[in-house]
Amino acid sequence: MSDVKIKNYMEDCVADMLDSVLKDINTCSCKKCKYDITAIALNSLPSKYVVTKRGHLYTKLEALQNQFDVDIIAAITKAAVIVSRNPRHGADELFN
Ligand SMILES: [Zn+2]
Repeated sequence: MSDVKIKNYMEDCVADMLDSVLKDINTCSCKKCKYDITAIALNSLPSKYVVTKRGHLYTKLEALQNQFDVDIIAAITKAAVIVSRNPRHGADELFN
C-alpha cells in the first residue's frame, strides 16, 4: 500500500489554471504572491480527494474539471484581489 496515496485533486486544478487566470488580472505574480493566492483559493474551494498510485498518472477527471472550472476561476480571482490589496512579498520572515 506504500505506493498509494491520497491527494487533493483541487490542488492540481488550481495550479493548472493559476497562470492563465492571473495573466488576465493586473496582480503581482511573484512566487510568494502565487503561493498566497493558491492557499486562499484552495481554502474557499471544496476538497476533492482522489487515490493515486506512485508512477501512475491518474486520468484527468474531465467531468469534474469542467464542473468546477467556473468556481476555480472565481476563487483564484477573489484570492488575487485579496493578495494584491495586502501583498506579503515584503514580509520575508514569513517565508524564509
Ligand atoms: Zn508579489
